[in-house]
Amino acid sequence: MQITFYIIFFIFGSILGSFYNVVIYRLPRKESIVVGSSHCPGCNTPIKPYDLIPILSYFILGGKCRSCKKPYSFRYPLIEFITGCLFALTYHVYGYTWLTLIGIVLASILLIITMIDIDTMEIYDTFQIILFFLAIAFITQSGLPLGDHLIGFFIISVPFYIIALITNGMGGGDIKLIAIGGLLLGWKATLVAFFIASIAGGMIAILLVLLKQQGRKSLIAFGPYLCLGIYIAFLYGNSLFDWYIRLFF
Ligand SMILES: [Zn+2]
Repeated sequence: MQITFYIIFFIFGSILGSFYNVVIYRLPRKESIVVGSSHCPGCNTPIKPYDLIPILSYFILGGKCRSCKKPYSFRYPLIEFITGCLFALTYHVYGYTWLTLIGIVLASILLIITMIDIDTMEIYDTFQIILFFLAIAFITQSGLPLGDHLIGFFIISVPFYIIALITNGMGGGDIKLIAIGGLLLGWKATLVAFFIASIAGGMIAILLVLLKQQGRKSLIAFGPYLCLGIYIAFLYGNSLFDWYIRLFF
């Protein structure tokens, strides 16, 4: 039964998503992500195991701490839900293969990078290193020539680097991200990733101007859009590239 696998991937994703919430919250605060059980950020009361069911607990508790009634951020169930969806989507595209395993790790890392980048405007090297090893793993499975991956490393990162030198406007984290993401994707899918990131970032920027919200600096960080582009390109990049080329030739 196909649907059973989707549900299993979704539940597995949402459980890991609740761990990613811990990572996203604690890493920038320099707290250990393995030591110490989950506690309420308001009153520090440890959260009971039966209140740690992904997504559902938030709604059972009415979005509030059981002890101090302080509201929990809606972000927590949202990230659990999104992780579940990303896992199910990855399975949908790559089925029961190694690529699905690489895909769910990739989705996880990109989601954590996105949230920490939104919170702190920083992309930690630890995650870039994990991405690098993931890229090596994917190169052995992708079926693309090694040269395609190597060109992917440079094709956007070099122009980014030059722009950064000229304008000081591009973060080093973004350059590393599109270099390593490009190594993973190969050059065609890297162009697709960059295209998606630019469109998504551009649309949000226009929306912010219209809503007079340009002050929301966190939404202008380019990292999250790159993450979105890299993941979509991982799933559909080469077919999107071929489709786009066929439109013109
Ligand atoms: Zn509390």
